[in-house]
Amino acid sequence: MEEKIVNYDVLYKIMYELTAVFECSKTPNELVLGLKQVFKRFFEVSEIEIFSLDENSNLLKNFIKPWENLPESEDNSFLISSFSEFKNQNSNFIKRNNEVYFPLYTQGKISGVVKLIGNIQNQEFFSYLPLLSRQVSLAVVHLKYFETVINSAKFYETIRNIAKITETQYDLSYILPIMGEIIDGFIKEHLIYIFLKSSNKNEYKLIWPNKCLINNISEYLSKIKDSNCLIFDEGKTCIFPLISKGKITGAVVAYNPVDTLNKNEIKYMEQLTLQASITVNKAKEYMKTLENATLDALTGLNNRHMFYQRLSETTSNAKRQKTSLCCIMTDIDFFKSVNDTYGHSAGDLALKTVAKTIKKELREYDIASRYGGEEFAILLPNTTLDEAGKVAERLRKQVEKKKINIEELKIDGIKEISVTISIGVSLYNPNLMKDSEDLYKLADKGLYIAKESGRNRVVIADK
Ligand code: GH3
Ligand code: MG
Ligand code: MG
Repeated sequence: MEEKIVNYDVLYKIMYELTAVFECSKTPNELVLGLKQVFKRFFEVSEIEIFSLDENSNLLKNFIKPWENLPESEDNSFLISSFSEFKNQNSNFIKRNNEVYFPLYTQGKISGVVKLIGNIQNQEFFSYLPLLSRQVSLAVVHLKYFETVINSAKFYETIRNIAKITETQYDLSYILPIMGEIIDGFIKEHLIYIFLKSSNKNEYKLIWPNKCLINNISEYLSKIKDSNCLIFDEGKTCIFPLISKGKITGAVVAYNPVDTLNKNEIKYMEQLTLQASITVNKAKEYMKTLENATLDALTGLNNRHMFYQRLSETTSNAKRQKTSLCCIMTDIDFFKSVNDTYGHSAGDLALKTVAKTIKKELREYDIASRYGGEEFAILLPNTTLDEAGKVAERLRKQVEKKKINIEELKIDGIKEISVTISIGVSLYNPNLMKDSEDLYKLADKGLYIAKESGRNRVVIADK
């Protein structure tokens, strides 16, 4: 038998380069690519593939595509049989044509196979192989643990973010989309849908996003009986019921047309849905108390409910006393992009700041309300249209000038942002306006034109 000679200089160089690859690889893809370059340089290897045993399915999976099952082929059956060979400790490597197979270890046990393709001429390679095999194994195990740690950190952060939504927001139509986005960001490979169940009928309504790609979704949803997760289409569709006080209130659905949710992801989704249920319940409870309230929790202005009440009072006063009454409707420009760029907390700060600016610019008896999301309605009693136009212009300028301090949010060191508003102004005309609501609807028309004609401007609406 030929004596094995190890060239330690070369081995040192290989190990040095491999270590650099291990240190820099943050993903399986990067690792495999880095290994390929080193093996190519030293041994003319043209391809390297790593297959590791998936504990959930007990199948060998490609390390860089763990979600795919290996297709049936002669090559793959050879791969599987070499895995058995290694497990039975029959050999340290297997050579076949221009392929070399060697085992992958996890804590001393065979946990996969590495396949090299190339015309390896350098016989020293085989004397290095036991060491190379162990080193590659360490790198694979390290990356797997690294992924697990990152995932669980992300998971706890996701749970915390879902729990945190209700710190400032209670409106379901607002918090459910945020929740959808948070869960979607965590389970990236799957599409996430949120459904709410109507309280009297056994019907589910899609709340987020605005289209569902699952054909039989109504049928699937009708099968929800309790809090247990339901699995359809061989695991491509998974339904996680939202529960409130023992009753089903909706569902979070995960869907992927090609892949299935693995056991871990299902566990994560169950926990996330549980937290989502708690958040939804909290919001619902709070909404109930808010229905009796008059002020908006975020801005401290009147809430919408109160706005309607004051609208009806001020219009009937104006009619009776023949005084001039005006209405301003205003909406923050491109507010969605504030949320998207700086986050919802920055959006909330912007809303508070705009509300404060509005309040400061108004007289004692003007009535400012938060009409909805980023829309404000202002009633100006004893004010002519000309005066109201001036107030509106002053508001617009002040908001434009105002610096919103977001330093406390620590977003890439950004200290302040600013926003602009568009405004529509209307005058109450008791002869033409049958309904008090016509007053703000007319202002809203002005607002619409202000948006259409470029934003950050005031439009006086007249019929
Ligand atoms: P436009 O100039 O046409 O008004 O564009 P826009 O982006 O302001 O309008 P759009 O209606 O598309 O977006 C309004 C956004 O306001 C979407 C919603 O998520 C956000 N929003 C509504 N209420 C709140 C809130 O209380 N806090 C925060 N941070 N965002 C809110
Ligand atoms: Mg807006
Ligand atoms: Mg709006």
